[in-house]
Amino acid sequence: MCGDDDAPNKMVSLDIPLLARAALLLQKAVAERLPKLLKPLGCSVDDRGFKCDFMPLKGRWPGEDEARELESAVLKLEEAGVDVREAGSPSGPADELLSLLGYTAEYLVGGFKARLEPGVKPSNSRVGAVKILNISAHNPAAGVKLVRIIGVAFESREGLEEWLRWFEEASKRDHRVLGQKLKLFSFHEEIGPGLVIYHPRGQVVREELIKFIREVNAELGYEEVYTPHVLRSTIWKVSGHYYLYRDKMVLARVEGEEYGIKPMNCPGHILVYKSETRSYRDLPVRLSEFGTVYRWEKRGELYGLLRVRGFTQDDGHAFLREDQVKDEIKAILKAILRVLETFGFKGEDVRMYLSTMPEEHIGTEEMWAKATEALRGALDELGLKYEVMEGEGAFYGPKIDVHFRDSLGRWWQCSTIQVDFALPERFGLEYVDRDGSRRRPVMIHRAILGSVERFMAILIENFAGRLPTWLSPIQARVIPVRSSAKEYAAKVAEELRKAGIRADADLSSDTPSKKIRRAYGEAIPYILLVGPREARDGTVTVRARGNRQVAGVPLKEFIERVKEEIRSRSLTQRAIEELAARG
Ligand SMILES: [Zn+2]
Repeated sequence: MCGDDDAPNKMVSLDIPLLARAALLLQKAVAERLPKLLKPLGCSVDDRGFKCDFMPLKGRWPGEDEARELESAVLKLEEAGVDVREAGSPSGPADELLSLLGYTAEYLVGGFKARLEPGVKPSNSRVGAVKILNISAHNPAAGVKLVRIIGVAFESREGLEEWLRWFEEASKRDHRVLGQKLKLFSFHEEIGPGLVIYHPRGQVVREELIKFIREVNAELGYEEVYTPHVLRSTIWKVSGHYYLYRDKMVLARVEGEEYGIKPMNCPGHILVYKSETRSYRDLPVRLSEFGTVYRWEKRGELYGLLRVRGFTQDDGHAFLREDQVKDEIKAILKAILRVLETFGFKGEDVRMYLSTMPEEHIGTEEMWAKATEALRGALDELGLKYEVMEGEGAFYGPKIDVHFRDSLGRWWQCSTIQVDFALPERFGLEYVDRDGSRRRPVMIHRAILGSVERFMAILIENFAGRLPTWLSPIQARVIPVRSSAKEYAAKVAEELRKAGIRADADLSSDTPSKKIRRAYGEAIPYILLVGPREARDGTVTVRARGNRQVAGVPLKEFIERVKEEIRSRSLTQRAIEELAARG
């Protein structure tokens, strides 16, 4: 039913070791059943399923029947009690293609050598159901054409069926599909994979998110800066990114010098800090930037807006004295919780993780102890529950990660607060203390949304494209129910726009019911129906999501109520709720 809010099923998680076992069995099944068509190379697994790559031997992909045949072949191997075990250290010299793909862990499946990405141990439980979801071309590098089979596996038929029901719901909410349908953004082979182009409507959503965080940053005392996208490699050497991050950086030689496109915004902000002598009274210095960064992720790992090569971070850096760390963390944590709650993520659906000193680290034990205590103190004083991830901090400092659960039951990590002992040291940052001595400030990296792109993808899927009014690219559409009301419809749309509401009028020659369907299809929160009576009275008939409708609403009143709904960044359609309640 169009406009109805259908509640999604809770997520059914996949069993990763079982997926790894199924992926190994699939390689043997392919080698047995389609030896002339595909040569197995190896598989990787993640929480979406298994991905197996094959060298095509005939330039043809397996068809639907062959896919079903492979599924039953996997189950037959299990029924026959096939033996799956590690093959020990890899045999022979490293194969270039296999290393490129990362399939370096070898297993023996009933004597057949199959491969996996290292890091996941296949389960000893038997696979009871397997489903091939997709067979497609995969080009991991220029000139390399492979066939990729994507699928899932379960211990039982019932497990698969339950998952398929969830998957169907999740697929309807796929941000890549909705992004195209709602004309938000697109990806193009011509410009390269993982690089997003925002269309006018997508840019509205992006800008609304940025505007929201800009307000939060200002309240937190952050001053916005702008730094260039391309910086001389020298600075990436000072920051250490050149050595630690090089495989993900885009480097270019110009006029005999090397430059790097920024994978992070920190160095630019550090230079702002360094450009003045800072006294203990100047601290904290807080700088923020909606900084677009580029990280050359592997082609096979790109996934819509969730995994891109170019994205904008709501980045921020605070430079402070040790005694200021706890209060700063408290303020940031409060802001993160408030932002997440605005999108409906709160209570049991938000979790905090404190990561402490790893084995390999820089800085003294004392520095670590103090900073970790400050993070812990901030969490405790706010009465927040958190889990301690012993030894999971970065080598340069402890951190707090905030995870939240969306309406599909998936957990996401976007917000992060990271203490850094390394960069102040590498850049020789200082402030003049009360007694005139020079001291190192503590540096905190923080992001609330993390990546604007990724956060937008999560929101699109969470709301199944039906974004709250304040985020909707078009907030109201006026539809004349008679052609005689066209002029009034245009006038209403004009009034709405004057009041700062994103509105248009559908003056096409289609029938009103077709126009209404189209507006629902575009996920527009408010449809205003107008006829000769509304034109005479200066009113509108308001239609909202969930087939709620209120007739005879004075235009002025609608404008005031919807403006308040937008201003307060309401999660629900407060205006229609209020209009319905007033009788
Ligand atoms: Zn940073």
